[in-house]
Amino acid sequence: MTSHDTLVPLRSRRALRTFQRTAVSLGRLISDSLFPRKCLTCEAFLPDRPNTYLCSACAGQVVRYHGPLCDTCGQPFWTFGESFVAEGALCGLCRTHPPPFLAARAVGLYRGHLKNLVLLMKYRSNAQAAFALAGLLAEAYPSLFGEFVPDAVVPIPLHTERFLERELDQAVLMAREVARNAGWPLRLWLRRIRPTPPQSRLSRAGRRANVRNAFGLAPWVRPEGRTVLLIDDVLTTGATAREAARVLTRAGASAVYVYTAARAE
Ligand SMILES: [Zn+2]
Ligand SMILES: [Zn+2]
Repeated sequence: MTSHDTLVPLRSRRALRTFQRTAVSLGRLISDSLFPRKCLTCEAFLPDRPNTYLCSACAGQVVRYHGPLCDTCGQPFWTFGESFVAEGALCGLCRTHPPPFLAARAVGLYRGHLKNLVLLMKYRSNAQAAFALAGLLAEAYPSLFGEFVPDAVVPIPLHTERFLERELDQAVLMAREVARNAGWPLRLWLRRIRPTPPQSRLSRAGRRANVRNAFGLAPWVRPEGRTVLLIDDVLTTGATAREAARVLTRAGASAVYVYTAARAE
């Protein structure tokens, strides 16, 4: 037999097949990322427009919060009727324990479609959900931060162990997109220096203890005098954001703002 196949050594043929398979799946990933065919949350068909991940109905169902909130950490003050909350008011925690960041804001509340997207991104390792959230972050930015231009967009990273388990670091993906859209520098300045169990089932005090000294700076980093926009998926008690911001301000960052896709209530 003198077929072309027999002329190529077996090992090379295998390598070629692996290469072809990788190229095909990479191509599919790229085209699906640019032109996802279905809405990520309701699976309705989407128009072939780049960077569209949600149908307009789902995009409209992101629950934004327009009521009074803590001027620093952004915690909603749920008020009833005509109760008045003075502008610049702080929540109890920010009054007694001022955080090392200047302000934390979120696109909306951790409910409905925003929550679905975060869960898809976190537990199903869905990169498109991260791109969709980054789009929402970019869109809501001016209404939350005005014309503030950070010197660095910094994601709050996962520990390597968790990263390997999930195969994507959601905050890094979101921060990369936000930075790219705005033309701001993305800086991977923070490292998780020890693995921490998930925060979701811990009390407020438990969360604080869990993330204490969890972060360090990457070795080459010089944040002196720089303003930082920290990016994460959800802000709950703010314990993680406080810890990450503390590392940056201790190293001389002049101002740290926290921007998350969602705010837990
Ligand atoms: Zn939809
Ligand atoms: Zn507060």
